[in-house]
Amino acid sequence: MSENQNLRPAALVTGGGRGIGRGICLALARAGFNVCVNYAASAAAAEQTAADCRALGVEAAALQADVTDPAACQTLVETAARTFGRLDVLVNNAGVTADKLILRMQEEDFDKVISANLKGAFFCSKAACRLMMRQRYGRIINISSVVGLHGNAGQSNYAASKAGLIGLTKSLAKEFAARGVTVNAVAPGFIETDMTAAMPEAARQAALGAVPAGRTGRPEEVAEAVAFLAGPGAAYITGQVLCVDGGMGM
Ligand code: NAP
Repeated sequence: MSENQNLRPAALVTGGGRGIGRGICLALARAGFNVCVNYAASAAAAEQTAADCRALGVEAAALQADVTDPAACQTLVETAARTFGRLDVLVNNAGVTADKLILRMQEEDFDKVISANLKGAFFCSKAACRLMMRQRYGRIINISSVVGLHGNAGQSNYAASKAGLIGLTKSLAKEFAARGVTVNAVAPGFIETDMTAAMPEAARQAALGAVPAGRTGRPEEVAEAVAFLAGPGAAYITGQVLCVDGGMGM
């Protein structure tokens, strides 16, 4: 743990107000972390998630920042560390899609997804690493996707961002292993959130058909894996990709 031993450990979850991010905030709160719930636009959802964390007996705060903005990421990490006196865990969860076959995909579609999913994680990790290196303790967990491992027609931008996150994860794991900072990725499969609710029915059915478990996953099921990687039992695990996908990526 960090130098401020007397304080409860603290986590920052980007895009923590809704979907998988909300599940992660609640799982970390249940595990005893104070939680900073980052959001870009959904203030009410983030405030609700923070209130639900507090109801679990920890402290929580909603912090606005657009992760595509490097200065905002720096401020977000500094504010999170100040809010609860320390920062032990960063979960880079914020993500977007802009699905199209490549022949229709515009440069803006590509940039939008890379900026939020990959550069956002780079900006937040860079800010957090400095702090975690100093305290010689930290956990960074990047939310990738099975699509980053296997690709998916219509999601070349998204798959590239999620594969990029795996490269970022493994590289940072090597840079910081000797400093007590672990860096891992979680790769969810088909999880029920607003993101997948927006899929056309035919695409949903096709995705579901590719899940050996025969059902979609729940945000809480991804959150359990994140809480494990954030916890003491995962101290000797770094540079790994943990799939939470009902067997989809086998
Ligand atoms: P979601 O329900 O659409 O939620 C996306 C979250 O990301 C929201 O909290 C949103 O906050 C935040 N966000 C988006 N752009 C942001 C930005 N520029 N700055 C800060 N926050 C931003 O999606 P989800 O399904 O929970 O996905 C969460 C993560 O899991 C994503 O990285 C996604 O790629 C990954 N994932 C999801 C699935 C799945 O099946 N659902 C599978 C594999 C991986 P605001 O509402 O405030 O903008």
